[in-house]
Amino acid sequence: MLSHRALLLRCLFCLFLVAGIPAYSGAQQNFDQVQIRTEKLDEGVYMLTGSGGNIGVCAGQEGVLMIDSQYAGLTDKISSAVAAISDHPIRFLINTHWHFDHTEGNENLAKAGAVIFAHENVRKRMSTNQSILGSEVPASPKAALPVVTFGQGMTFHLNGHEIKLIHIPYAHTDGDVVVHFPQSDVLHMGDIYFEGMYPFIDVAAGGSIDGMIRAVDQVLSMVDSDTIIIPGHGPLSNKEKLQGYRKMLATIRERVAQHLKEGKTLEEIVAAKPTQQFDEAMGQGFMNAEMFVGIVYDSLKK
Ligand SMILES: [Zn+2]
Repeated sequence: MLSHRALLLRCLFCLFLVAGIPAYSGAQQNFDQVQIRTEKLDEGVYMLTGSGGNIGVCAGQEGVLMIDSQYAGLTDKISSAVAAISDHPIRFLINTHWHFDHTEGNENLAKAGAVIFAHENVRKRMSTNQSILGSEVPASPKAALPVVTFGQGMTFHLNGHEIKLIHIPYAHTDGDVVVHFPQSDVLHMGDIYFEGMYPFIDVAAGGSIDGMIRAVDQVLSMVDSDTIIIPGHGPLSNKEKLQGYRKMLATIRERVAQHLKEGKTLEEIVAAKPTQQFDEAMGQGFMNAEMFVGIVYDSLKK
C-alpha cells in the first residue's frame, strides 16, 4: 500500500502531466485547441499566453526580445502571434528558469535565429537529466540550451528600453530571473509568482519557500501601484495582488513550521488544514492545498 506521502506525490505528478506543468510528458501533447492571446501592456511591450508559462515580448525597430518559449508544439502559433506584432525577427530569447513549459520551444526558436540567454544554472540543468518528483526529465538537445549565461544578472539595451534581468537565488528553482522593463513599468516574475493559485516550488532543483518569500519581497521593493506584473502562470497582476500572494506564502509557511516544531507528521499537518483560509481563492488551480502543504513541508524539512 502506498503511503499518504507517496500518494500525494503521485497525484501531483499526474496533475502535472495533465496540465503540462512543469513535468516532462515525453509524449507529444495536442495543441490544436490552444490559441495564443496577445495583450499589449505598453508601446512595444506585450504578454502572450497559450499553454505553459506566460511569454513577455519587447518588439521594435531593433528586433524582438522574447521571455520564455512555452512548448515546442506551439512555436508556429507563437511565431505567428509575434509576426502580427512586429515585422522584425526574434533575436533574443530569455528563459526565466529551466522548466519544460517555459523552455521547450527553445530549440525551434534557436534554429530560427534567436540567441538564448539564461542564468548559468538553467543551462546546467537543461544540459543534464533532471527529475521532478522522482520522474526523469531528459537533458535538452544542444540547440535548446542557453548560449549566453550569467550569474547575477544583465541588461539589454533594445528598442529604447533598458531591460534588466535580475537573478533571484533559491526561489522557484536555483536559476530564476525576473525581467524588469523600468521605462514601461512592467515586470515579468517567471514562476516565482503564480497568480490566483498555489505555486509549485521545485525543491529538488534548489527552490524553497523561504526563497520564494524573499523573492517576492525583493520584487515588492521594486514596484509601485501602477506596475504591471506578469506572473509565470495566471492573469496579469499588480502590487496589491502580489502582496496578498506574499501574505499567503508567509502565513502557510509559519503554520507548517509551527506544526513541524511540534513534531507533527505530514499527514497530521495536512489534516490540520494550515491553508484553509486561502483554499477557495488559491486551491482551485493545478495544485490543491494538500500538494502545496507537501511542498512547503519538503522545503522546511530540507
Ligand atoms: Zn516552473
